[in-house]
Amino acid sequence: MKRFYCSCSKEVGFHDHVCKNCGRDLVYDPVLGTILSGELINTDCFIVHTPDGQKNRQLIACDNRHTTVACNWALVPEDQENDCECISCRSTRSIPDQEGTDKNPTRWYKLERSKRQLMQTLIDLKAIDATQPELYEDLEFDFLEDKRSNPDLELEHVLSGHYDGLITINAAEADEGFLHTMKEQMQERYRTLLGHFRHEIGHYFWLKFFHNEEMRKKFRKVFGDEREDYSKALKRYYKSGNQSHWRSRFITPYASSHPHEDWAETWAHYMHIVDTLQTAHSYGLSDYEPHKNSFDQWFVEWGRVTQVMNALNRSMGVAEPYPFKVSDIVEGKLRFIDEMICLYALNIKSPSQRKPKKVSVKSKKTTKENRNKSK
Ligand SMILES: [Zn+2]
Ligand SMILES: [Zn+2]
Ligand SMILES: [Zn+2]
Repeated sequence: MKRFYCSCSKEVGFHDHVCKNCGRDLVYDPVLGTILSGELINTDCFIVHTPDGQKNRQLIACDNRHTTVACNWALVPEDQENDCECISCRSTRSIPDQEGTDKNPTRWYKLERSKRQLMQTLIDLKAIDATQPELYEDLEFDFLEDKRSNPDLELEHVLSGHYDGLITINAAEADEGFLHTMKEQMQERYRTLLGHFRHEIGHYFWLKFFHNEEMRKKFRKVFGDEREDYSKALKRYYKSGNQSHWRSRFITPYASSHPHEDWAETWAHYMHIVDTLQTAHSYGLSDYEPHKNSFDQWFVEWGRVTQVMNALNRSMGVAEPYPFKVSDIVEGKLRFIDEMICLYALNIKSPSQRKPKKVSVKSKKTTKENRNKSK
């Protein structure tokens, strides 16, 4: 992630509400893709200050600034009349019962934090155009509990997944303990809450990118035929384990289960790379950054950065954060994703991508009804 600065010139964090140096209030503007400093008046009216101390434009802060979520985002101008939550918060349809267990408020807080980081990278990649929020009204999130985290519930297992724009995340994945246990059980080398978001959003963008046969043919050339029976493929994977030669062709064992999962796993990996490499670049550890330099340049740089990153962690006696080896075939898949994102970002403003805008007041009501249902 890039670095953000207050108008007093001190660095501030992506999730910060107030500058620790000068006390100015902070807001993230999804249209500009940056943090702005100024003054919050009457809980939601944000007056932006320019670096010379002048007060200029006005933004509306997200309603969730003052809830458990502690969101620091602003609404985009298109939403200010009808909505009171930012482009990230309003995509949440269900949350775990906030009165059910002491853990649920923290879980919701962490889930939304990860979602905002996900959205920020997508905005930076221009895969999400915050000036056209109506394009993403089909994107919704359910954060659900199951019996393992709430014995009062009937449901044995909530599996994270995606179906036609609706992303489900098991709320317990926000607990470090649960995450670690699942990682051991599934024998995974890497498992994070952010990783879940990045994987599932990959399925969502697959639908956006490969919306016709011509595009799907391109996909099949790189990832294989996605028309292969999905449930049979998953059953086979869980029964007989991953394909023995997965290392040469896939980024993770799970990616070998089906072309859809290969896409989502590789997409998540692509997002890990662009966010981490941008961080390295913004702190002066890398000369290259994705989408400013060519794929070949930043991909070679990524190899060097991960070497340093792993070595630094070994020095601290902690596990290597990057336990992956990217084969030539996987590199080809990452390159394809890079090309698809650039193509999508170019076409995003074309009329064919636009959908009729829903009445936001109505969708708002639905969100609240669903939240009550989830309690
Ligand atoms: Zn400041
Ligand atoms: Zn928000
Ligand atoms: Zn998946």
